[in-house]
Amino acid sequence: MATPGNVLAFYAEKRWGNRHGIKGPLYGAAGHRGHDIKTAAREAVPALRGGKVVYTGRSSVLGPVVVIEVGPGNYDGYAHLYGLKVETGDHVAQGEIIALTAGVGDYHGTAWLGPHLHITNGALSGSVFAGATRDPAPGIRDILADVAVLAPASTPSKPAPVPAKAPAPTIRKEVPEMFLMRITSGEVYLITSRGKVQLTHPSHIVLFQRMFKTYPDFDTFNAAERDILTSYILRAS
Ligand SMILES: [Zn+2]
Repeated sequence: MATPGNVLAFYAEKRWGNRHGIKGPLYGAAGHRGHDIKTAAREAVPALRGGKVVYTGRSSVLGPVVVIEVGPGNYDGYAHLYGLKVETGDHVAQGEIIALTAGVGDYHGTAWLGPHLHITNGALSGSVFAGATRDPAPGIRDILADVAVLAPASTPSKPAPVPAKAPAPTIRKEVPEMFLMRITSGEVYLITSRGKVQLTHPSHIVLFQRMFKTYPDFDTFNAAERDILTSYILRAS
């Protein structure tokens, strides 16, 4: 069956954000365990694949989440949501709206990168947000490639549905909303959209300068450096 138009529009490759496995101060030692789709705030999220909703809940970092069993040993996880439209036990079709995406101010998880869907895939329902996850990108590519073929002329058919156009996304640059500010006394603060924290050591200032310069490539940071960056970011939120 051809992929519905709203799925093609929502998961289009030009809307892909941070990829699975990238490292960064936001992601901890294991790296980014999901695949980001850049969206507008409160944009409707169509199910990438149909299946059975096996979990709905909320985490302090991911916000409301949904897990859909799409096949044996195949689970899709959706995070950074707002206003779930499905409940555990529901069966959803591909393209069915399962939730909206969260806005920047809705909770911590979307404060840095702007509104986006964090989609994950794993072999266990409990692991899609924590344990071993698979890169969802190849599966999304397969689904995007499954476009409608024209029906033979002899087959009566309805006019092809016009693919739903995604609302003009207010996509922000993938740079966290944070910057350093030196006040007249010489103290340096990390300023974020949520608050501020004073940097207590000159080497930490250098770390942040490196982070801003190399974003989003964090591979040059070691675990200790990532911990320092993360701890400041969390304290300023
Ligand atoms: Zn993500």
